[in-house]
Amino acid sequence: MISRGSPALHWEKSQVNDEQLLRYSRQILLPEVDIDGQERLLSAHVLIVGLGGLGCPVAMYLASAGVGSLTLADFDVVELSNLQRQIAHTSHRLGESKVASAAVTLASLNPSVAVECVNQKLEGQALLDQVARADVVVDCSDRFSTRFAINRACVKTQTPLVSGAAIRMEGQLAIFDARQAHSPCYECLYPPSGDEQLSCSEAGVLAPLVGVIGSLQALETIKLITRCGESSVGKLLVYDAKSLSWHSLNIPKKSQCGTCSGAV
Ligand SMILES: [Zn+2]
Repeated sequence: MISRGSPALHWEKSQVNDEQLLRYSRQILLPEVDIDGQERLLSAHVLIVGLGGLGCPVAMYLASAGVGSLTLADFDVVELSNLQRQIAHTSHRLGESKVASAAVTLASLNPSVAVECVNQKLEGQALLDQVARADVVVDCSDRFSTRFAINRACVKTQTPLVSGAAIRMEGQLAIFDARQAHSPCYECLYPPSGDEQLSCSEAGVLAPLVGVIGSLQALETIKLITRCGESSVGKLLVYDAKSLSWHSLNIPKKSQCGTCSGAV
């Protein structure tokens, strides 16, 4: 009798074709992912908001790992000062929209991924509609106002949210899942104060730092989709690049949170 975990049985029933078996073989080999996990990735749809320093590695890793559909949202164009850290863009694409530039890079990495570009600031109903279509939302934006709007849309539509931030020599990662009653939300972590955070253009950022945090966002997104590994929902990870130190905290769900209390 062939056990449920047998590769032979999975291969036979799988929709994954030979080219995909080879392309994704190194992650299919992982028992935690296997064919089932790869099939989940291939049928998943991820919304990435912001195609800057964080969004570039997120999009590139998710595309190369075989996430079937990616929606890229950004309203900026590629500038010379972006190229130090925004690795999906090139010197030849200065002046082009970031979403179009990133789409070219993703197509060369993995042409089978369906990439949709939203070259506008996502807000209001348009944001809600895009979030509702996604299995996971990855917040790679650099403004609090955008982060709060994305968080509210994710809580309202019960869509998992992978949030990242990086500035100077410090990075943060937090994972939320409004489908789970115990999950906090971004506003439980950062109650709105009306202040806008410093941007990289004002404070600076060390280039590989955004790669570290963006890669972790892609990793946690893949974990949410494939359901592999341990859940990171409700965790905040803080990385200090100066001292090469990591701190992990559990974010408490606030009973008085203006966004998620009573939402589930
Ligand atoms: Zn909350």
